[in-house]
Amino acid sequence: MFSEKLLEIAGQAEIELAPIFKRIDEISFKNTERVLDAFRENRVGESMLTSTTGYGYDDLGRETLDKIYAQVFGAQSAFVRHSIVNGTQALTIGLFGLLRPGDVLLSVTNRPYDTLCEVVGIDGANGNGSLADFGVRYEQVDFTKDRKIDFDAIEKKLTELGDKVKVVFIQRSKGYLDRPTLSVDEIGEICAFVKARSGAYVVVDNCYGEFTEDKEPTAVGADMIIGSLIKNPGGGIAESGGYIAGTERAVELASYRLTSIGCGTEVGATLGQNRSLYKGFFMAPHIVAQALKTAHFAAYVLEKLGFDTNPKYDEVRSDIIQTIKFGYPEGLIKFCQGIQSASPVDSYVTPMPWAMPGYTDEVIMAAGAFTQGSSIEISCDGPIREPYIAFMQGGLTYESGKIAVLVAVQKLLEEK
Ligand SMILES: *Cc1c(COP(=O)(O)O)cnc(C)c1O
Repeated sequence: MFSEKLLEIAGQAEIELAPIFKRIDEISFKNTERVLDAFRENRVGESMLTSTTGYGYDDLGRETLDKIYAQVFGAQSAFVRHSIVNGTQALTIGLFGLLRPGDVLLSVTNRPYDTLCEVVGIDGANGNGSLADFGVRYEQVDFTKDRKIDFDAIEKKLTELGDKVKVVFIQRSKGYLDRPTLSVDEIGEICAFVKARSGAYVVVDNCYGEFTEDKEPTAVGADMIIGSLIKNPGGGIAESGGYIAGTERAVELASYRLTSIGCGTEVGATLGQNRSLYKGFFMAPHIVAQALKTAHFAAYVLEKLGFDTNPKYDEVRSDIIQTIKFGYPEGLIKFCQGIQSASPVDSYVTPMPWAMPGYTDEVIMAAGAFTQGSSIEISCDGPIREPYIAFMQGGLTYESGKIAVLVAVQKLLEEK
């Protein structure tokens, strides 16, 4: 079914990627060890996998999973809830938990993720209850011309704005921007730099980053990390949810926005979701490894065919996103349609660009997933804007990820 040339490149890919795959396996082993230790030390038992209803008081499964997330992420405290609808809501909970009128939110990694812009009110007050509507000012530092963190500009902002800066915001992953992803060590450098100059909370949008390295930003000084369970930490098994982990106080403040002031994390029925949240977290290091291998494989094949990729096939990763720059809309659209056609669910559907809620440009999304929108499952998407970059991520198994890449590439070459 695949052309001879393509199969030859695929074979070569696996020879050259062998040492990289070995390194990924080692990270997965370390992370699995940490997860398993946390399960054992917290004495996870069958009764925790069951359910509560109503207020959900004393749900030992929920309370223990919170502790497990905190321990694995090197944080003092955490909460994980199936009822958080997506990453954007988790981020909203975190930001509204920490920021007050008159405070400044300083993003040091360019613009935050598309869906957060409305939440923050980046273009000013929007009347919808954004942070800007509540008198929280937004400030931003871009990357330098050589795509590095601009420490001089951060220093200037911190000096100029003083203790008005309540939150320094870092987005680990590139999101929908053509920018580098930050490693955990780089995030640690920013944390140290900020903490030497300011009392601000350092908050990290950790989406897509979890388990790609052997530690998370909370282990290197971040006050709060935030992510989605239909990405990495859900392990492809959690059907919905989000988490926040960090220092005791930061997580407590966020918990008052999660439920209400006073109630915090002590309420919230788990409605039968504990089992999949536990199982997903247990699987997550391995599933992330599958996704990483798929990303490296995609980069290798597309590079050999002359496409511009980021990261390059042999680069060390800190998220599961692989971008491919097509430069023309049809390339992006065809590639996404190819990924969809190789998915286990809805393979017969042809995705088209559409105006998704929360995004400014039209977006095309290939997502033939068991869980709707789950991007730890193989998925490929991108906004229909210059320079027409596909953002590919996920792969529950390397084998299926590899097949999806080959199908999409074949489709792309046929159409050319
Ligand atoms: C996915 C993602 C989010 C949150 O998006 P949702 O679709 O609301 O889950 C935020 N930031 C980044 C970098 C992301 O990748």
